[in-house]
Amino acid sequence: MSGLGKGILTASICKLLQLKGYKAIPLKMDGYLNVDCGTMNPFRHGEVFVLDDGSEVDMDFGTYERFINVPMTRFSSITGGKIFQHIIQKEREGRFLGRDVQIVPHLTDELKDWIRRLGDEANADFVVIEVGGTVGDLENSYFIEAIRQLSYEEKYFMTIQLTRVPSLSKGEPKTKPTQHANHLIQSMGLRPDAIVCREDEPLNQESIEKIALFANLRPEFVYDDPTVSTVYELPRVLNDQGITRAISSKLDIDPSPADLTSWNTLVNRIISPSKGEVHIALVGKYTSTKDAYASVYESIIHAAAHYDVKPVIDFIESAQLEESGPSALSKYDGIIVPGGFGKRGIEGKISAINYARTNSIPYLGLCLGMQLMVVEYARNVLGWKDAHTSEINNETKHPVIDLLPEQKSIDKKGGTMRLGAYTMQLTPGTTANGYYGSEFVDERHRHRYEVNPEFVHDFEEHGLVISGRHKDSGVVEMVEWPNGLGIGTQAHPEFKSRLEKPAPLFLFLIDNAVKRRNRIKNVGENKTKTN
Ligand code: GLN
Repeated sequence: MSGLGKGILTASICKLLQLKGYKAIPLKMDGYLNVDCGTMNPFRHGEVFVLDDGSEVDMDFGTYERFINVPMTRFSSITGGKIFQHIIQKEREGRFLGRDVQIVPHLTDELKDWIRRLGDEANADFVVIEVGGTVGDLENSYFIEAIRQLSYEEKYFMTIQLTRVPSLSKGEPKTKPTQHANHLIQSMGLRPDAIVCREDEPLNQESIEKIALFANLRPEFVYDDPTVSTVYELPRVLNDQGITRAISSKLDIDPSPADLTSWNTLVNRIISPSKGEVHIALVGKYTSTKDAYASVYESIIHAAAHYDVKPVIDFIESAQLEESGPSALSKYDGIIVPGGFGKRGIEGKISAINYARTNSIPYLGLCLGMQLMVVEYARNVLGWKDAHTSEINNETKHPVIDLLPEQKSIDKKGGTMRLGAYTMQLTPGTTANGYYGSEFVDERHRHRYEVNPEFVHDFEEHGLVISGRHKDSGVVEMVEWPNGLGIGTQAHPEFKSRLEKPAPLFLFLIDNAVKRRNRIKNVGENKTKTN
């Protein structure tokens, strides 16, 4: 069922194969009829993740990329909507030569071709397919059927079933749901070669043997998937239980376990960092669900691991700041306003940015967070009290953020934003340039509005630094405060942060947050001394 961690399991298996020297790429199948995730509400479905090629995909893609540090393409994502759109278009073109078009064999053939093509074109050794949803759902039944066929057609193939093993009371793991799930999938013609059990407490030998017995498996093919302190621990946990050996024997590859030494060094820094804590406030709109800001959250984790500190991250509802005022933010070492759409909580975000700027708290603005950084600067430094983004107020005399010219004629919602990777040119000598360490950088985008070129000169005259522009069009991509403590970017650097390669702008934030924390600590200590 959803939320069990299929994405993390898929990413972990790819990672283990990668660490053994193989190229393994993930492919995700989702049953919903949306063509992509672009129109889905992050509150219901978690964040919309964006790839280099501009696809708007499920948040699991963030997990894949963060684990394996390889950029995905839209071919790694198949949704019900996408495959039906594809097949219906083919039918309209008359490419089925007079046949009635059926789920089996036409749709399933299409799916198998897709999988094989993905593997071939990426020159991959393995394709690791994650089927979303639950066994028995109508939505994913044709995916499972395609995979069943594949399991007989391909020589090197294995199926792993992820199930839930709840404990109703301590010491009593219940294997029944797993038995039923396994029967159900076997009745569809797929026989899992291994079962991974998402449990409430470690499985005892008796439960493992029971699951193995009902599933026609040897006990060494049943694995514990415990709650780990960080998801990045899962490759190690599974490797220690021998999953790499099992996969290797099934796929007939070198059986030695994966070498996780350098991966584990990073994981250990997340679990027990040696340089204390930093407190980060994430001021947003969907704060009741961590999933809505998954990539931002993970990017903070990556950068903090790099500096060997523990990030304490608080999600703060911006609408609430409108009532309480921003002074509660004084205890934070760094503030982030992430991307977003719509009106709710906008003034709260602007007040948080103002608080960060006037109190020298390190600030990172992502997309909307950058746009509002510009609005705040216009209102409070340039004195244009009515300044706003025309997304919220299109009557203002100072629309400092305005619709991108190419957006003006678009009325469809799906896949129509400025999406995907664009190259920006950084201004030499800026703080951003320092953290990136290069002049040209690629970051991913997802927006309709931009800094209004009409006002750029006024901003520069008042000290706002334009630290990056799109290399051809000149669209402002990055700005920073004159004090170097706040950077805003029109892009979403969080989509490119990896545990093994943290995003430079998050390094900027955490580095400055640590410095601020140390400064405050020193002032405190000196005061105690003089007292
Ligand atoms: N709503 C803003 C725009 O469309 C910002 C989008 C975002 O933060 N991703 O430009």
